[in-house]
Amino acid sequence: MTNKEWIDKGQNSVMNTYGSFPITFVKGKGSRLWDADGKEYLDFVGGIATCLLGHSPDILNQVLVEQADKLWHVSNLYWNPTQIELAEKLTGSCGMDKAFFCNSGAEANEAAIKLARKYHYRKNAAHRQEIIAFEHSFHGRTLGALTATGQAKYHEGFAPLVPGFKYARFNDLDSVKLLLNDQTAAVIIEPVQGEGGIKPAEGEFLTGLKELCEQQGILLIFDEVQCGMGRLGSLTAGQHYGVTPHILTLAKGLGGGFPIGAMLATEDAASGFAPGDHASTFGGNPLATAVACQVIETITAAEFLPAVQKKGQLLKQALQRISDPRILEVRGEGLLLGAEFDVEVRGLIEIAIEKGLLLVGAGPRIVRFVPALTVNENDINQAINIFNNSLREWTE
Ligand SMILES: *Cc1c(COP(=O)(O)O)cnc(C)c1O
Repeated sequence: MTNKEWIDKGQNSVMNTYGSFPITFVKGKGSRLWDADGKEYLDFVGGIATCLLGHSPDILNQVLVEQADKLWHVSNLYWNPTQIELAEKLTGSCGMDKAFFCNSGAEANEAAIKLARKYHYRKNAAHRQEIIAFEHSFHGRTLGALTATGQAKYHEGFAPLVPGFKYARFNDLDSVKLLLNDQTAAVIIEPVQGEGGIKPAEGEFLTGLKELCEQQGILLIFDEVQCGMGRLGSLTAGQHYGVTPHILTLAKGLGGGFPIGAMLATEDAASGFAPGDHASTFGGNPLATAVACQVIETITAAEFLPAVQKKGQLLKQALQRISDPRILEVRGEGLLLGAEFDVEVRGLIEIAIEKGLLLVGAGPRIVRFVPALTVNENDINQAINIFNNSLREWTE
């Protein structure tokens, strides 16, 4: 079937939530994708910062197939070895103590919000229920995570939202101080805001936030669903900044494209949960955790993250060298980069796609660059070429 035939068919039965580009992908390898008409694309979206090791990487295929032969699913009524191994690897390498597994970023953040409230409840501080989030943040689409998301456009029509959320200004410690009081349970923040426009936190701000939380017995939650798992050139975003949160959420890149989320916590924070407090049927599923074990093993191998830093710099410098008056700023860290324009970029992205380069926005005026961490220099040069040609053709 052709692209168009698939899309006509899809529009009849797939719910109309995405406003997808008119392309149907049928195959992927590394940083390349092929659509149903056989056209090849260079992928700088990576399933939105998710296909960490590229499409269909041999190493993950092998692990997945081997695990499929052994065991698919048992539920958390029992223990399973791959979940235990992943918990050990993740907590050890991320500087945390305990891991809870789920299936997505939103679910990881729900778990974090619930843990924060229950933590204070168990410490006889049940009045500490409020969660402070940030303007322009994105934490997911389930009601709790959606409420934490500081963007009105995502809230519209879904009232009533979850009570007990307040929003501070990103990179503005005073705005946090104004909201903190003896009702505050936790602060949730993306160290680099993703959907909200690829905005990195300032180091001083995150350090100050941690200090403030420590002083007042408030839990600091880092939502690293997009910026964690090596994306910044360090394993966690917190490590990039030298700040360790009390709770850390992961998803997107964690399974390299296989659905899995995780909430990690310090021993003290994790003491908020006891048996029966929280659960997920699929959480820690053997297939997902086997794949994620291999992802973490691959990205923590000696040469991997330094190479991500190097490729990130190459891409960032190439973007900064582009002289186009419509570009206001190129920003981000590692392979989480964005170019902010003074106009909306949908048209530019459509031209790039036409020329065989997949890009995605991060808000209406920012083009996001989140290729696989395994992208190579040739891919980067080719992407820059196509992007330059697209800019030349783009008149809005
Ligand atoms: C994508 C994203 C989420 C939501 O993840 P889902 O898996 O879509 O639920 C949460 N937080 C951040 C920072 C994200 O980028």
